[in-house]
Amino acid sequence: MSFYRVTYHDVRKFATLHNFGCTFKCPFCSYKLKSGANGQPGHAYPRPERFLTTEELKNALRKVSPKQVYFMGGEPTTAQNIAELLRYAKRELGANTRLGHTNGSCLALECLDGANVGFKAWSENLHTAITGQKKSLIYDNFSRACDAGLNMAANMIYIPDLVEHKEFEGTMRFLSNISPDIAFHIMGYIPVPGQPYRRPTDEEMSEVTALCRSFLRNVGVSHLTTEQALDLSVRDDRFRVRTIAG
Ligand code: SF4
Repeated sequence: MSFYRVTYHDVRKFATLHNFGCTFKCPFCSYKLKSGANGQPGHAYPRPERFLTTEELKNALRKVSPKQVYFMGGEPTTAQNIAELLRYAKRELGANTRLGHTNGSCLALECLDGANVGFKAWSENLHTAITGQKKSLIYDNFSRACDAGLNMAANMIYIPDLVEHKEFEGTMRFLSNISPDIAFHIMGYIPVPGQPYRRPTDEEMSEVTALCRSFLRNVGVSHLTTEQALDLSVRDDRFRVRTIAG
């Protein structure tokens, strides 16, 4: 789709371009926290009234001269001008470039320094059922990006009765074979409207964390309530940003 907003963190000096839309349709997508049971996964709510032109996006970035430029979604690689914006951020501004959240379906990008890939499942059938896409697309892309020297990180959502230990173990084996130093983040599922799944218990989160830490050295965890997820800036200063365009 397109970028509709640019935010900037005055202290940490990073800018973020926010894209509307995603190629996946994950039923548990956290965008539904705001858009409700009938909301479109991966689509910000409410729908932006207008989208920013490439020139507007470049102007916003030029004014703040960020050290880092993040591209977020939905799925940021669906924005048609992302290649041009990556080139601009990297070559004209000298910024470090990163997909702050991506489903990993399109990672072969010039001028990209790194990406944070949200894995959904390890089992082929479950992966296809959740995302509508083949698992190999995502896992192979991640592997290739690591081989190409990109700074890669990964995350996965623990969802009781859906994405549990077996899924995490498979993904852990895959990642640790690439490198035990890959940064990995476990997110406890935040129940979204219209889905039958519950929030994991503290004990379940501890167990899956121990499992992941038996494979990887750099594992972080978040286990937010719905209220906490709806205002991340209260707990994490990285979300204390101001809008500079859109
Ligand atoms: S890939 Fe991420 S943004 Fe897209 S639908 Fe799935 S959870 Fe939502």
